[in-house]
Amino acid sequence: MSMKVAFIAHDRKKDEMVNFVTAYEKAFDGCQLYSTGTTGQRIMEATQLQIHRFMSGPLGGDQQIGAMVAENELDLIIFLRDPLMAQPHEPDITALLRICDVQGIPVATNVATAEILVQALMRGDFGWRELVHKYKPGLQGNE
Ligand code: PGA
Repeated sequence: MSMKVAFIAHDRKKDEMVNFVTAYEKAFDGCQLYSTGTTGQRIMEATQLQIHRFMSGPLGGDQQIGAMVAENELDLIIFLRDPLMAQPHEPDITALLRICDVQGIPVATNVATAEILVQALMRGDFGWRELVHKYKPGLQGNE
């Protein structure tokens, strides 16, 4: 089973993202990869990985990735946010994190968590996908 992984890094986190993905290039090699525009460009310049790039985050890329999450089409997101800089698309960022919680999609917002998730990926530990289905939300509470 090929895992679907998405990368997003805010500007001051892009070097960190490139270093991280380069270090784990082998682990990501067999995955289907997605990203926001500039993040994906930076990773592809530094590695041999092929990444489907959506729009840049401020132009709607987070929402495009969020749409995949809503359809339960992603397995893992690495989202290196800048915690020290306000972003113009803050509502989109909040929405993406929310929909990840709705669907139970693992999302790493710093490189320490990303490392742990990638090690699970390398072990072939797909247990989280079972949980996603077990606790999949229904609409009952909203009716
Ligand atoms: P980018 O978008 O990868 O196109 O820079 C990410 C962001 O800044 O939200």
